[in-house]
Amino acid sequence: MKFRISQNLPVWAGILALSLSLQSWAERPNILFMMSDDHAAHAIGAYGGRLAPLNPTPNIDKIASEGMLFKNAFCANSICTPSRATLITGQYSHVNGVTTLNGRVEPERQYLAHLMKEAGYQTAMIGKWHLKEEPAFDYYSVLPGQGSYFNPILREAGKTPWPNNTKRYSGYDSKHSSDVVTDISLRWLKNRDKTKPFFLMHHFKAPHDNFENAERYDWLYQDETIPEPESLWREPNHGSSATDGMGTSIGKRNNRRNMGHHMFVDPSLDKTAYKRTAYQRYLKKYLRTVRGVDDNIGRLIAHLKETGQYENTIIVYTSDQGFMLGEHDYIDKRWMYEESHRVPLIVRYPGVVAAGSHSSLLVNNSDFAPTLLQLGGHKSVPDYMQGHSLLPILKGNKPANWRKATYYRYWMHMAHHDNPAHYGIRTQEYKLIFFYGLPLDAPGAQKGPTQPGWELYDLRNDPHEMHNVYGQVDYKLVTEQLKQELLELKEDLGDRDEKYPELMKVRERFWN
Ligand code: CA
Repeated sequence: MKFRISQNLPVWAGILALSLSLQSWAERPNILFMMSDDHAAHAIGAYGGRLAPLNPTPNIDKIASEGMLFKNAFCANSICTPSRATLITGQYSHVNGVTTLNGRVEPERQYLAHLMKEAGYQTAMIGKWHLKEEPAFDYYSVLPGQGSYFNPILREAGKTPWPNNTKRYSGYDSKHSSDVVTDISLRWLKNRDKTKPFFLMHHFKAPHDNFENAERYDWLYQDETIPEPESLWREPNHGSSATDGMGTSIGKRNNRRNMGHHMFVDPSLDKTAYKRTAYQRYLKKYLRTVRGVDDNIGRLIAHLKETGQYENTIIVYTSDQGFMLGEHDYIDKRWMYEESHRVPLIVRYPGVVAAGSHSSLLVNNSDFAPTLLQLGGHKSVPDYMQGHSLLPILKGNKPANWRKATYYRYWMHMAHHDNPAHYGIRTQEYKLIFFYGLPLDAPGAQKGPTQPGWELYDLRNDPHEMHNVYGQVDYKLVTEQLKQELLELKEDLGDRDEKYPELMKVRERFWN
């Protein structure tokens, strides 16, 4: 589908056009959409992988066993605010304008919220929001910015106008953020208008850094050794001259910022001991914080069961992006590499989604809003949304002409974690990344171009991206095809390099 309509199109035109085309159901299902912050798919038991034997997420795994797990779900821009903007608008960063952490989404452009209300849902946004403007939901209680792990303040819908409506709940002073936002969601679920179905967006702050867990998890994994990824130590041919030495690290490689600093590892340790200690502390903190998310999901599910709503509630679990957990000696996200690019996506919908099913089709977070709209009864998706509804896939069908490739772009050149700006394409078989290395006009990007370059990974033979095969003779033809596909995809999605003369100059020199 060609993208035709600009972000400036009044949302109301779309809402009016849709208002006559709702499904008529005797009883609408409720929708519980749960999203965590930086919860990588490979830190979920149901996704398998090296961490699965640690049983990090029993409750999420149970949802997966009763629903559909998407193996190839990706984000379009692996960083918090842009991912959330894509979720609420159904648009890629270059269209909704939220390319970096500095972006914001005004209430009138929070399309998903408006359209779910239009569909007859009572709507709520609880937890991490990060879009700066007032949420356009019937009810909200959101953490300002990143929010605090302990004793959090929230901004709550009510008499006091945004953004002065901050509130610290009495009795919450020693409570962890994951427990607090779940308490608030449970209270809202108990007190809501029960004449309408609910659409609750329940967003955990966890397990975002600095990975602070509730005290009750301090014992967890205490006596265990967390399995390491092979690429923590051995890098046959990962990366390129465009990424050499970049990105923050587990070990001492990045002197400015590494996980050893965050985890207070003794700097006098040798390189190997320093990295090993930093990795163990990092993963234990992260997984303890993840367990707090999972246990709170268990509380929400228990409530749905106790109140007889479990079979009439669609449950979605995802994260705003993935996270590097020591792969290639990286921490954080931002990269288009698999662990950062992939997001978990699990959907339970009794009677519609087959229990224990999975899909390997390429989906991305621009599809989330269109999917939620269709789950909520909208027959069609407005043209200004760029994603595609996953409802046919959830019903067990493979839609004709489903996307063969997903587009990615990271704009915050060299900010915070030293990652150069890049864009790329991922198909079922390959990933091609162009590191253009320019800050362009992305607010928050750090000035100064870096060495441009390409990376190509053959995911059929190299799922962990250990070998950049760009430039190898055997891959010449496929590289040309992927570059052409990348250009077509950019054109299709309306991401135009021509806006940036300096980028066009880099392309002229480095494209071929
Ligand atoms: Ca995030």
